[in-house]
Amino acid sequence: KVDTTKEEAFKEDALPFEDNIAYLRRLLFERDVEPKLIEKILEKIRERGGNSMKKEEMLSLSSKIMTLLVGEPQPINLEVEKEQQKPHVVIFLGPTGVGKTTTLAKIAADFTFKNKKVGLITADTYRIAAVEQLKTYAEILNLQVTVVYSPGEIQEAVNKLSDKDLILIDTAGRSHKNKAHFDELKSLVSAVDADETFLVINSNTSRIALREIVEYYAFVKDYKLLFTKLDESPICGIILNARYMTGKPISYTTNGQSVPDDMSIANVKQIVADRSEERR
Ligand code: GDP
Repeated sequence: KVDTTKEEAFKEDALPFEDNIAYLRRLLFERDVEPKLIEKILEKIRERGGNSMKKEEMLSLSSKIMTLLVGEPQPINLEVEKEQQKPHVVIFLGPTGVGKTTTLAKIAADFTFKNKKVGLITADTYRIAAVEQLKTYAEILNLQVTVVYSPGEIQEAVNKLSDKDLILIDTAGRSHKNKAHFDELKSLVSAVDADETFLVINSNTSRIALREIVEYYAFVKDYKLLFTKLDESPICGIILNARYMTGKPISYTTNGQSVPDDMSIANVKQIVADRSEERR
């Protein structure tokens, strides 16, 4: 009996170079990778591979290129501040409802379990439930929450937590389209002058919306990308796109509502692994 799957695979493998390129283009397109980025990836493959390159080699080369593009994840590192004997201050920014508070609680739990002293500050007084939500997590972890009502109060709040290893600051998920609200957020960010900033992005954001978010938050010089709700996203193209658009490092990803479990340092292999191909 002839093994047709192998036979077909062989046939596909023997497709001419440009047909394989077209196949890869479609694959990346299905993952919602930016068209410009797709062409860059294909250009690199053309540069490297001669016309005899097989489909499997091409897929493996594209994975290598994407791995380089995604880069190494950079989680919170407390070592620098340890030498300086001051708390490491981290602020979380991002559109409304992306999962900032939940993620902050997950990170707080992670460091508390590692025996680090964690202090929490919330400037999210705009949404009534937000403070309560953080306080609930804080109670479970036996942590203190300071609520600040204006950018002018933030430094004092940070100073009062000087005995901590890590201070996590939650911000109001204010619409970047509301200028007054967004200006207040900018003042807060400048008043905090954090050691690290995380831009929290929902993995299900469209390419157009992502571009807009990136443009609005361009006022922050250095930040890390943090992607939430991977459990609700069938594809990881957004991570490649955000890296391509911003050049900022990736950090954590979250994949569920459960605190503290559903978060990990971004797994580059999984991000690059072609889940859309698995579905074929
Ligand atoms: P914030 O407004 O940015 O602070 O967002 P919240 O932390 O309040 O989260 C908004 C909603 O998203 C809540 O219902 C969370 O439980 C949910 N959420 C947060 N992270 C994740 C995640 O990784 N996966 C899923 N499915 N839901 C999440």
